[in-house]
Amino acid sequence: MEWARKPLEIVIIGGSLTGLLCGVALKHAGHTVTIIEKDDNERQSHMAGVCLGLDAAVFLTHHDRHETVFCHSCTSIQAVTRDNGIKPFLKARREITNWDTFYFRLRSLFDGYSNSYYPALPKSINTDGCVAYKCRSEVSDISRATNGEGKMVLTILNHEIQQLSTKEADFVIGADGPNSVIRAKYAPSVHRQYAGYIAWRGLVPESEVSASTRKIFDHSVTVHMMDRHHCLMYIIPGQNGSLKPGNRFLNFLWYTNESTEALDEIMVDDLNGHRHQYIVPAGHVRKDIWDARLDRAKNLPLAAPFLEVILKIQQPFIQVITDFCSPRATFEDGQVLLAGDALSLCRPHTAFSCTQAAFHASLINNYINQQMSLTELEERMVRYSFLHWRQSIWWGEFYQRNKAVALLSGLCFWGYCGIDIIKSWWRGEERLFRGSSYIIKKHD
Ligand SMILES: Cc1cc2nc3c(=O)[nH]c(=O)nc-3n(C[C@H](O)[C@H](O)[C@H](O)COP(=O)(O)OP(=O)(O)OC[C@H]3O[C@@H](n4cnc5c(N)ncnc54)[C@H](O)[C@@H]3O)c2cc1C
Repeated sequence: MEWARKPLEIVIIGGSLTGLLCGVALKHAGHTVTIIEKDDNERQSHMAGVCLGLDAAVFLTHHDRHETVFCHSCTSIQAVTRDNGIKPFLKARREITNWDTFYFRLRSLFDGYSNSYYPALPKSINTDGCVAYKCRSEVSDISRATNGEGKMVLTILNHEIQQLSTKEADFVIGADGPNSVIRAKYAPSVHRQYAGYIAWRGLVPESEVSASTRKIFDHSVTVHMMDRHHCLMYIIPGQNGSLKPGNRFLNFLWYTNESTEALDEIMVDDLNGHRHQYIVPAGHVRKDIWDARLDRAKNLPLAAPFLEVILKIQQPFIQVITDFCSPRATFEDGQVLLAGDALSLCRPHTAFSCTQAAFHASLINNYINQQMSLTELEERMVRYSFLHWRQSIWWGEFYQRNKAVALLSGLCFWGYCGIDIIKSWWRGEERLFRGSSYIIKKHD
């Protein structure tokens, strides 16, 4: 399909990070962009870190019109051993922010939404397209328009006034997350798979832990590996995105293998008895379940700095680890596209979701602006996501499984890396696998 008109009418389903990254790039390219988001403007973060890798950094170089620093920089990955020794592992850069800070930064770039995170708006440029962010509106269906103009039509329920309406678009981007309605319609065989383990999570203000513990976590992502379970800790920004030492949070995670029967207990809401599927939010974890977890932490015991932090978590939350990767990213002759977690959900160990979202947004922007063919877009989106999805599985299996089983995942991942190298070499392009681009150098 060729399109000569500009601006194009683009609708993005989902106004979280992927939707906003796509929206900002397409607005800057002069298109008319509407984001449809079922939730509200002001939303609760999962209270966890969001890591920005190479492709996110490249995206921001082109599209971020704010100048303030909004990430905490970690320069290495280290391990804490059972006897509380520190083992440097890799010198690797990790730029870490949190969901709220990045969401509100992108909102201010997209539609000039301002609040205490970003009270001052960035300058707009007169070639920018027109945009709208419609919250409390949910897309329930998509089809091709019957008037012969070649557009797509969305059916939208406005939750505010409980009214259905339709909207036409030249392009539709499904940035509607892991339970995407777009993916369910066009790739119904792809489902979220339970990885066999969950994460017990929580935040503690760094001002509440001892100076010695704070020092351990200050510039490193720190892992504590045990037999088929592991803990992770890193610093994230504090209230209103503050990066000031003393204002930030320590972000604690403990991954444990759990049967599906155990989940029927663990995932029950303390307040209303509802059995959650993927997340028990902060403030809703059953007290007896969390107390049992703390007892387990003391009895093991976890390494001292991790134990100190877990005992100070006031509002834990629980996340079930799931993953999938869709074999297709484009539908309806390239007018319907999947992006971000709607296309591929990585396990969290590689902290890759947001980097993937930025890469997808850049490719989609190139495609809509006719700098890339549909065939190229499809191939690059799927190869990139597949590689990083397999990498996240390999890391997850390495931490949580028997090492022989994990090795199979590793071999599978390295096999795909080999294919990536050959394809990239054959086409004279840069490799799509990004993992090693984080690495500054190995520790001696
Ligand atoms: C409120 C929130 C808080 C989060 N906090 C964190 C965090 O602290 N740390 C972290 O690592 N990750 C967090 N995430 C996940 C993180 O945003 C993603 O993993 C990653 O950035 C890619 O996101 P995504 O935009 O592809 O998908 P998601 O972030 O899942 O966003 C999908 C969006 O689509 C909307 N949506 C879904 N269906 C429809 C529909 N039919 N019509 C209209 N809208 C629809 C959803 O409400 C949601 O806003 C959070 C996500 C959300 C929504």
